[in-house]
Amino acid sequence: MKTDVAVLGAGIVGLSTAIHLARRGKSVLLVDRRGAGEETSFGNAGLIQREGVVPYGFPHDFGALFRYALNNTIEAHYHLKALPGLVPFLVRYWWNSGFTQHQHIARLYAPLIENSITEHADLIKASGADNLIQRDGWMKVFRTDAARDAAYKEAERLSAGFGVNHQKLSPSDVKALEPSIRIDLAGGLRWTDPWSIRDPHSLNKAYLTYFQSLGGRLVAGDAATLEHVLEGPGWRIASPDGPIEAAEVVVALGPWADTVTRKLGYRYPLAVKRGYHMHYGTQEGERLNNWVLDAEKGYFLAPMLRGIRLTTGAEFATRDAPKTPVQLARAERVARDFFPLAERRDEEPWMGARPCTPDMMPIIGKAPRHEGLWFAFGHAHHGMTLGPVTGRALAEKMTGERTTIVDLGPYRPERFVA
Ligand SMILES: Cc1cc2nc3c(=O)[nH]c(=O)nc-3n(C[C@H](O)[C@H](O)[C@H](O)COP(=O)(O)OP(=O)(O)OC[C@H]3O[C@@H](n4cnc5c(N)ncnc54)[C@H](O)[C@@H]3O)c2cc1C
Repeated sequence: MKTDVAVLGAGIVGLSTAIHLARRGKSVLLVDRRGAGEETSFGNAGLIQREGVVPYGFPHDFGALFRYALNNTIEAHYHLKALPGLVPFLVRYWWNSGFTQHQHIARLYAPLIENSITEHADLIKASGADNLIQRDGWMKVFRTDAARDAAYKEAERLSAGFGVNHQKLSPSDVKALEPSIRIDLAGGLRWTDPWSIRDPHSLNKAYLTYFQSLGGRLVAGDAATLEHVLEGPGWRIASPDGPIEAAEVVVALGPWADTVTRKLGYRYPLAVKRGYHMHYGTQEGERLNNWVLDAEKGYFLAPMLRGIRLTTGAEFATRDAPKTPVQLARAERVARDFFPLAERRDEEPWMGARPCTPDMMPIIGKAPRHEGLWFAFGHAHHGMTLGPVTGRALAEKMTGERTTIVDLGPYRPERFVA
């Protein structure tokens, strides 16, 4: 199989990149060892986070650090055994999360986020996936006045600095929007710009069908077999249907990017933050209308097509360690008092791994030491949000088009390579 470009990884980032390359007249093979959107892009909370201009930092206040150290919260969990290996990542991540560095990073990151809705809107329209989208933002709710007031202050700062829109919700506003919530709340905050996806897997599949309508193909293959062929096409990948030969390759393997980059001599300081989900039925006559974060407890409830999807925060562990869904168990106990959840709908908790860099920004652009090799990974908490904007910006760069959407400078791969 010969192609202009092989895109390795059919998650939201690979799919979106493949679409934008195919739109620009390239022949494109999308290579995955599973199907499209079967891994991290399958199980997320489904938010297109237009408000997420400040990437998720590592806490600097001692109260939060002490709570996390006890390892019994819902929002964070760690495997003690994994910590020594994670220290170099965590130290850099912590440093970049200091106020000044974090604000600087937010300025560099915001242009990606600013284009997230418009770029998804384009692909949603082209793939006829309108029925999967809700366009009315998402909300955080607060149990205490202190947490509410701190969140309002931060929201005002972000609205002034980055033009994201929010509404403050009184306890009765929250009650009117979500009459089934069972506890007394101090209020809520609604980000009004974001969109939400009722079934992220189906959206990935709709994008795949659209890619195929442009002449692209999804083929089975193991990215770890990638070889640089000096005499000949450029790159070769083994597949059950015979070798794939490509002039150019895009590595869009999310949390597995290092399986290819290490082999080619790149040592990126990558880590994962694992997360879990479970779907639940709702007790008779009850309903959840919005995507809701129980902010002080650190779990999300998302009214998806399959049921209410509860998603958890960050688990610091090695990517391939066995599942330890303790945060899910803790969150479920709290969530059942918060909202009338009914039966569990999945046989076992789903787990995914957010692919993270220590400066909280993705790696997008040309590989520093190889011709015809391109990187698009490390989208952490916002890959579902940023897939289409990354795909378009990278395709523009690869085809030498004048960059119309985002300057990829801040995300360039060489920022980490010595
Ligand atoms: C609990 C949770 C909630 C989240 N909520 C949100 C949210 O609300 N909004 C948001 O924007 N983001 C969210 N995220 C983050 C988001 O899901 C990820 O950033 C995004 O899915 C990453 O996409 P990707 O395409 O880079 O990786 P993936 O979707 O993981 O795709 C990588 C692909 O590579 C393939 N692959 C791996 N190894 C090989 C190999 N050797 N050969 C061939 N193929 C291979 C895999 O099969 C996979 O299809 C959440 C994540 C989690 C875990």
